[in-house]
Amino acid sequence: MTTARKRIFLLGSTGSIGRQTLDVIASHPERFEAVGMTAGSDVASLIEQAQRFNCGVLGVGRQEAGDDLRASATAATVGVGLDAIGDLIEQTQPDLVVGAISGIAGLGPVLRSLSLGIDVALANKEPLVAAGELVTTAAARAGVRLLPIDSEISAVFQCLEGRPPEHLHHVILTASGGAFRDYPKEQLAQVTPAMALDHPTWNMGRKITVDSATLANKGFEVFELKWMFDLDFSQIEILVHHQSIIHSMVEFIDGSTLAQLSLPDMRFAIQYALTWPERLPTSYPRLNLADAGPLTFDTPDFDRFPSLRLAFDAGKAGRSYPVVLNAANERAVELFLDEKIGFTQIPEFVEHALEEHEPVDVKSLDVVMAVDAGARQAVSRMVPRR
Ligand code: NDP
Ligand code: MG
Repeated sequence: MTTARKRIFLLGSTGSIGRQTLDVIASHPERFEAVGMTAGSDVASLIEQAQRFNCGVLGVGRQEAGDDLRASATAATVGVGLDAIGDLIEQTQPDLVVGAISGIAGLGPVLRSLSLGIDVALANKEPLVAAGELVTTAAARAGVRLLPIDSEISAVFQCLEGRPPEHLHHVILTASGGAFRDYPKEQLAQVTPAMALDHPTWNMGRKITVDSATLANKGFEVFELKWMFDLDFSQIEILVHHQSIIHSMVEFIDGSTLAQLSLPDMRFAIQYALTWPERLPTSYPRLNLADAGPLTFDTPDFDRFPSLRLAFDAGKAGRSYPVVLNAANERAVELFLDEKIGFTQIPEFVEHALEEHEPVDVKSLDVVMAVDAGARQAVSRMVPRR
């Protein structure tokens, strides 16, 4: 029996997750086909990928890259801007959309895909942070699936599979601890962008690498867990595990705990999101526990890494606070990478933005984007003039 190839529309193909998704697609050409690809503005990489994967539907999210794309991809169907990317998805009718744009920019295309009745494999966590309820409601309304790509969320997904939700007691979300887990507070203030971009275990995009160093990324994963599995914030515990071998665990009501393990290579979780509920072989290096050495565990330090506390606080406060948490962080990370603010100012600016915020109900994409824009402006105003 031959199985039809799964037709995949890849949002963010030129990024770290996007490229690794193409690796997975290339490793099973009989099973997967890339029918659409998009970038932010890296047209040269997008065209190279389109040629390699024989893909005729291409988009860029950034208007300023539109002319370049139109001139370079004369044989392809092209779209410019996030709405146009949504139109491309509608025309292409893929079996699965992979959401691997970085930041809140991915929210519109993800919501559009879900409302079109298309399953989404989601790496892009910011939409779940800022608008988890909108995203999960859109999926439920259309009767489609959200499949996690983020390794910790995939771990919980795999541990929970086939079990009734009432058997779950709580989730143990593991954290590498970030590049500066052993730094005293004073030394954290001296961290430069170059230091923050040099992550010990994973090779990721710039924004998530900085988020991993501040532990904002771990705070965002708390939101992913909450929304993907309908959890209460009190059911999520964070455990520092330096080796990134155990990608997370679940404890059941009877006190039994299950864990999911693999080498830290995102292609395992990406492939599972693409093949679910099936499994296919992989050729990537495998875990050998005898070689891996000791696995260690520790509690997180909420004092040195206030981004963790801010995530729980904003999550519990609800309404539009999580939108501000995300947007203020995106802006503060940009300012840090531009050397306009220091490393420890990232959570300080986020906290100020949350304190200043007048909350509203988050009923639509438009409300999210309006609150997002306001929070970014608020953070920009906090930068001291030189
Ligand atoms: P990258 O920065 O490497 O890639 C981001 C992708 O999004 C690129 O294709 C980029 O295009 C595109 N993009 C950026 N801005 C826009 C925009 N305005 N409109 C359209 N496309 C845009 O990020 P990662 O691949 O590391 O991360 C992607 C998402 O996955 C993030 O949300 C991250 O948190 C999450 N994630 C990543 C993990 C990882 O290991 N990397 C692990 C778990 C989650 P261009 O190249 O043109 O800029
Ligand atoms: Mg993760």
